[in-house]
Amino acid sequence: MNPEVQCKFYEKKVEGVEDISKILDTDDVDIVVNGLDSPSVITSRWVNNACLEHEVPMIQAGVSRAELLFEMFLPGEACFDCVIASSSLKSQYYKNNLVAIYGSDSSMQNVSYAPYINILSGYVTHYMFNYFINPGSIRHSFYHIISTKNLTNILTKEYEKRPDCPTCNSDNLDQLISLEKLID
Ligand SMILES: [Zn+2]
Repeated sequence: MNPEVQCKFYEKKVEGVEDISKILDTDDVDIVVNGLDSPSVITSRWVNNACLEHEVPMIQAGVSRAELLFEMFLPGEACFDCVIASSSLKSQYYKNNLVAIYGSDSSMQNVSYAPYINILSGYVTHYMFNYFINPGSIRHSFYHIISTKNLTNILTKEYEKRPDCPTCNSDNLDQLISLEKLID
């Protein structure tokens, strides 16, 4: 390990945007890796709002039965809620699934195991490293999808920023815009 690396640990229950914002307020944070996953979707929205408020990038990753997902959101580009709004408009299946899992406890339904976590950790580290040493190389929010069948990258795409995203345009990021307002 690099002996100059300093780690600070917080033992804290996170129950909303403010709890994350308080940590970002007290420290000089350059990037956030979101590892919260319960309650489902809501935790990503909390981190998204806090990152928007503090203008720092957010990275997160997840595992489903068929796919691994890595995604990175940059300040001023598409945010997590832009993606929820766009995907809900494009796909009724996505929207129904989102409503069904929104706020649920996903802690006992996790389908990840060590190889998947290793791969996604590699993506996280790779893009954090790239962001710091060559910031111009990542200009838009984007995602990778990796197949769990053969562990190959099957899709890399930029997320589109929505000019009408209520969260990007909110002047009170301490509060989440309701899901109904976001997807209807
Ligand atoms: Zn947005």
